[in-house]
Order: sequence, then C-alpha cells, then structure tokens
Amino acid sequence: MELSEIYRNNDVHNSKVKFSFEIFPPKDGDISELFDELRVLKKYNPVLVSLTYGANGGSRTFSIELLRTILDLEMNAMPHFTCVCSSKEVVEHYINQIENMGIENILALRGDIPEDVEVCNFDFKYANELVEYITNRSTLSIGVAGYPEGHIESKSLAQDIENLKRKVDAGASAIFTQLFFDNEKFFRYVELVRKAGINLPIIPGIMPIRSAKQIHHMTSMAKISIPKAIEDIIVNEPEDIKSFGVDYVSNQCRELVDFGVNGLHFFTLNHSDLTSKIIENIM
Ligand code: FAD
Repeated sequence: MELSEIYRNNDVHNSKVKFSFEIFPPKDGDISELFDELRVLKKYNPVLVSLTYGANGGSRTFSIELLRTILDLEMNAMPHFTCVCSSKEVVEHYINQIENMGIENILALRGDIPEDVEVCNFDFKYANELVEYITNRSTLSIGVAGYPEGHIESKSLAQDIENLKRKVDAGASAIFTQLFFDNEKFFRYVELVRKAGINLPIIPGIMPIRSAKQIHHMTSMAKISIPKAIEDIIVNEPEDIKSFGVDYVSNQCRELVDFGVNGLHFFTLNHSDLTSKIIENIM
C-alpha cells in the first residue's frame, strides 16, 4: 500500500494510529535475530517496515536480501535510499530492482556528506533532486525526512522548511521526522510546515530509550533538545533507565496521538522489547 493511501484512512488495520518500524542491516550480516524481532513486531500490524541505507547500511545486495525477508513476512517494506555518493545509473538500477520486487514506497534522502568527498559521484546534491528523479522514473511513493528542530547544516528552521518544500514540490507523499524528546518542538514544527503550505502527513520519529550512552550519542549528532528529565538520566545513568524511558516515551506518544498525528515511526534499533512495551502502553 502506498504512503498516501496508508495515511489517508484512519481505519486502516482497525487502529487509529498507524505504527511503522525502522530497522537497519545487522553489522554481522546475520539476519536470524532480526527476523525474530520482526515477527514479534508484526503483531502490531505495522503499516511499514523501513530499512536504513548507507552509513552502517552494508551493501546493496544485503539490503535487497533484507527487503525480501520483510516481504516474506508479509509486511510493507520501505527502503531508505541516500543519493549523496550515487550516480543516476545506480539510482535507476536500484529503483527498478525494488519496483520489480513489488515494493511501493521509498524514503528518499541525501545522506550525510562523507569526509572523503573526492571519491563520490555527485549526480545529486540535495534530496529534492533525488525525489524529482524517482518521481520521473518510477511509480514509487516517496517519503522524505523532516527535522522538527532544524537540520544540523541549516542556518534556521525557516530555511530548512523552505528546503522541505522543494522535496514536497518534487513529488514527496509523506514526511518522516528526526527523533525528538520535546513534543513542543514537534507541534511548533507542524504549525510552521502547514503555514508554508505543506499538507502532507508528518510522521513523528520515536526513539525508545535504551541507555544513557545511546541518547548521548544520538543527540550529539543532530539538533535535538534534551528536556531536564532526560538530561538527568544521561548524567545519573539509573539502573532502571529502560523502564524510565518506556514511561517517558509512552507519555510522549500519548500526547502526539492526542495532537492527531497520522502515525508513529519507531526507530527500533533492531529490538522489539521497548517498542512493544510502549505500544502496549498506548493502545
Ligand atoms: P536534504 O533534504 O537534502 O537536506 C540536507 C541539508 O541541505 C538541509 O540542511 C537542508 O535544509 C539543505 N538543503 C536541502 N535542499 C537544498 C537546496 N536545494 N539548496 C540548498 N540547501 C538545501 N541517513 C542515512 O545515511 N541512511 C538512512 O537510512 C537514513 N535514514 C533517515 C531516516 C529519517 C526518518 C531521518 C530524519 C534521517 C535519516 N538519515 C539517514 C539521515 C539523513 O541522511 C541526514 O540527516 C542527511 O544529512 C540529510 O538528508 P536529507 O534527505 O534530509 O537531505
């Protein structure tokens, strides 16, 4: 099912809020554990299972193998694709490959600029160019990234939203956001995005809290505000950090659902336990 259809009807899978799960290719190449975790998550009727690409995303062949696993589990696979070091030929080959597998959606990203830029082929400078390219060459429905607190390279949130508009005008169908812990930032972002004339579904990115180190790592790589309660657990590293995290993120999700979000996109980090607990709490 395509993104616009998924997030249009409120009665899909008989559940008001739609869950999607993000996974990444395991570094050791062993997909058996991930397969088990996905089987657990399947009971929440995810509308999408998205698979990251690049960074620690492994080879394209491995991505295809994993996408097949998701499809074999009868779940709707949405591969991410980063264009930062890609030629048009590579993109074309990849989109043909996934369309032939019956995949209907893709998350089109620029990706982070690598330090060693000389080895890269810059057929695409920004994600809007990738969105345009995919729109013109396929029937894939396209998701794009949004940043409630602004992308790390942006001078201002307003400028970032102008650039988001370029991706929307190029053919995007839904916006999946960066993780955040302060809902007020998300609410303000939605307001500004709507004011900019963008009416696509905005799906908040939800990060279950596993450890102080993990939060510290994630928030140091991007512009993400740390509310006092989260700062305290980073400093004190309490033993029950996971259960604190489940409570915190469950409350966060409840507030987002009350606000009227179309879906919740969980960054599962390939584990089902915390995501399951949060979903059980809010269902
Ligand atoms: P863009 O939309 O191109 O934006 C990048 C920067 O350039 C922004 O500051 C923007 O304001 C600016 N900009 C955009 N267009 C223009 C323009 N035309 N002119 C001038 N400035 C412009 N990374 C991975 O490597 N693999 C993944 O699988 C992955 N998955 C992600 C999933 C989600 C939900 C999110 C939110 C991010 C993900 N990322 C992933 C991270 C992402 O690749 C980085 O944040 C990257 O730095 C930006 O990608 P983008 O698609 O947002 O880029």
